Amino acid sequence: MNILAIGAHPDDVETMCAGTLAKYASQGHKVFIATATNGNIGSAHHTMEEIARIRKQEAANSAAIIGAEYICLDYDDEMFYETKETRLAFINLVRHCKADVILTHSPHDYNPDHMLTSKIVNDIAVMIPIAHLKTAEEPWPVIPSIWYFETANSMGFVPTDYVDITDFYETKMKMLSCMESQKQWMADNYATLDGNTDRFFDTIRITSEFRGMQAGCKYAEGFVRALDAYRGMLTERVLP
Ligand SMILES: [Zn+2]
Repeated sequence: MNILAIGAHPDDVETMCAGTLAKYASQGHKVFIATATNGNIGSAHHTMEEIARIRKQEAANSAAIIGAEYICLDYDDEMFYETKETRLAFINLVRHCKADVILTHSPHDYNPDHMLTSKIVNDIAVMIPIAHLKTAEEPWPVIPSIWYFETANSMGFVPTDYVDITDFYETKMKMLSCMESQKQWMADNYATLDGNTDRFFDTIRITSEFRGMQAGCKYAEGFVRALDAYRGMLTERVLP
């Protein structure tokens, strides 16, 4: 299968489902990681152009660890809106990846870019095969199965399905380690709140252990099946 993980920002996908993507890749599936925005406000130390370039490189380095292709739609961080153009860009992305499965944000998350990414993915899923919706890429005759990954700090998120990532936890942490600029960003923003300068990794370890405890393994990632999507009901399991 072709697997497409779409996050709003560079680091969302790594944080929420890198273990699952590493597992897919190890099973021979083709993995794509895409971001709607370039993350160009994610630094107090660099210019917007610099941090966008740095974060796209970090995301590409992270994707390379599992042999995935990274694609950035290059919208401005926190200034990303739904228009005809953004919809067509998402349709073109899914067609380019010939996606069978899409992992993306939950519609109920704290960040407007996260929620809008989820909304556009849901909105365009049924448009992928439609010939009259012209994009650079040809229509792809599959309406992908959509799954939501964890929300920030797992707020309000109750998984319907789990993926055992115990054998891929180290790979996930290695992918996260590529996000050097965001370790600084989290430290800048959270150290003043609670003194924790390592929140970036703590959050992932705690969530992976907690989901592992629920799923009966050491480390897991949780997902919610998008039941309101066109292919919400499947007879086969497509998570690894
Ligand atoms: Zn984000």
